[in-house]
Amino acid sequence: MLKKRKILIPEPKSRFIRVKCNVCGNEQTLFDHATFPVRCLVCGTVIVAPTGGKAKLINAEIVRILG
Ligand SMILES: [Zn+2]
Repeated sequence: MLKKRKILIPEPKSRFIRVKCNVCGNEQTLFDHATFPVRCLVCGTVIVAPTGGKAKLINAEIVRILG
């Protein structure tokens, strides 16, 4: 008897990034495929907008990619 094997390898297409808020300078870590708007924890500015794929940084810049 043949046994079918299905191997699912999750692709590392999403990761965490360290971003810096352009408004207040606060750094925080977030998921780069966010499906909802992310706000700065300090000043409340929306810094990431969901696009359906990779999240778009609005008022922030990437400091470091955490992988
Ligand atoms: Zn801020």
